[in-house]
Amino acid sequence: MRSHDLERDLATLRDGLPPRGGKRHRVVVVGAGVAGLVCAHELLRAGHDVELIEARQRVGGRIYTMREPFAPGLYAEAGAMRIPRSHRLSIALIERAGLAVKPFTMHNPNAYCHLFGRKLRLSEFESNPAALGEELAEQDRGLVSGARWQALLQPYAQRIERDGDEGWRAIAGELDGYSTREFLEKHGWSEAAIEVFGLVNNQEAIMNSCFLELLREEVGNYYTDMVRIDGGSDQLTNSFLPSLRQRIRFGARMVALDQSERDVTVHYETAAGRGRAIADYAIVTVPFPVLRHVEVLKPFSHAKRRAVRQLRYDASAKIFFQCRRRFWEDDEGIVGGGTVTDLPIRNLYYPEAGKATGRGVLLASYTWSEDAQRWGSLAPDDRIEQAIEDVAVIHPQILAEFEVGASWMWHDDPYAGGAFALFEPGQQGLLHEHIIAPEGRVHFAGEHASLAHAWIQGSIESGLRAAREVHAHPA
Ligand code: FAD
Repeated sequence: MRSHDLERDLATLRDGLPPRGGKRHRVVVVGAGVAGLVCAHELLRAGHDVELIEARQRVGGRIYTMREPFAPGLYAEAGAMRIPRSHRLSIALIERAGLAVKPFTMHNPNAYCHLFGRKLRLSEFESNPAALGEELAEQDRGLVSGARWQALLQPYAQRIERDGDEGWRAIAGELDGYSTREFLEKHGWSEAAIEVFGLVNNQEAIMNSCFLELLREEVGNYYTDMVRIDGGSDQLTNSFLPSLRQRIRFGARMVALDQSERDVTVHYETAAGRGRAIADYAIVTVPFPVLRHVEVLKPFSHAKRRAVRQLRYDASAKIFFQCRRRFWEDDEGIVGGGTVTDLPIRNLYYPEAGKATGRGVLLASYTWSEDAQRWGSLAPDDRIEQAIEDVAVIHPQILAEFEVGASWMWHDDPYAGGAFALFEPGQQGLLHEHIIAPEGRVHFAGEHASLAHAWIQGSIESGLRAAREVHAHPA
């Protein structure tokens, strides 16, 4: 995002859209996730007449704090759980809502690394990778500590620092066609080094995605200084309810979309039958896998249809265990952070919420792509059973302390159809401008309609852009 665009977006979140004369627009916003809520809120604040159509019985979409089936005072974040301080739009929205944040621990040297059948504390592994065995013996310390990776990124970070948006454009031109694997191969990394990098940095399952996705996160310091919303991420999207509650139609699933010279119609289904919302403009924030099943009566352009069809979405699975005791803290001194494994659970996180209850909810497994698809193929009870077996390898106490489990598969969710957009090599150049371009009276927002895929920041940015586009239409 260009720095002047960021400043403009921050000013809009603070002061609203610029004043404009003339007749107000009627706007229907489809989807009450953070993108839809942000654009609806700003358009309403600017005097437009706004209606929201939402398929679920709640706001928030992929911001989803699960409070069931957990004991009172406990919850789990099935979707967004951490916010980088570098995401200034997300932070500004949290501050505007008056929400308290607490640090989110990404790296904890006391957590474990369990690779190739051996378990070490991360601190031991980082100081002596060879302790994990011969697979790692040939790897240098720089690979495990990340120094080798940082050295690879440094020239790009310097170019972006020096040339700003121009630098990004040039780098995107050079690297859009590369996957992360191809990028590492181009720089001479051995297969063993790529394997360790993928496992330790949680990149293995998404190694064939466009390298620019990872570069953006690394250069933007997405994972270095993070916070969590105290009490649950859902408070962010719930904070819109006082202003928007009466304008949201819950339980209404858009099934068809039409437009004419004069207006746009969203056809929806509720348990009571069909309905429609007619407006001057529509802002569609539903993920593209969902949009594929919506009947578009006045067909979109060829380029848009291709973008809807081809944009790649990643899968993601989370499995949670309510534990009677916070044994990872009490017995092992692990407060926050995560353990890395090559077991099917892959990544285990130690959420810090819920301490006052004495219990805790462990994020027993957080996976993406193929790793996640495989959990989705198991029945819900089998996921819990299998994950307990894996977690017991790291923490045998789980067998005595487990109380209840829950899981969420975003790729099986009918109103998400995937976890988030994640470009394949070449898709940024091929698809991005067509993803965000309006089609007549229909505008597009959502994390996929930004370059900050998979982050709340991208949703906010896209929501503000779509609101600005509609606001700018002459009366
Ligand atoms: P959504 O939240 O998907 O909103 C779309 C809305 O449209 C939904 O409410 C949906 O119910 C509704 N809808 C769908 N179909 C229809 C239909 N046919 N008719 C009517 N309504 C419909 N971001 C971070 O910043 N930090 C994180 O730690 C983080 N972790 C994440 C972890 C996971 C597993 C996932 C999946 C995402 C994560 N994200 C994170 C990303 C963040 O959650 C998303 O970018 C953001 O919530 C998406 O908001 P949105 O409004 O773009 O889309």
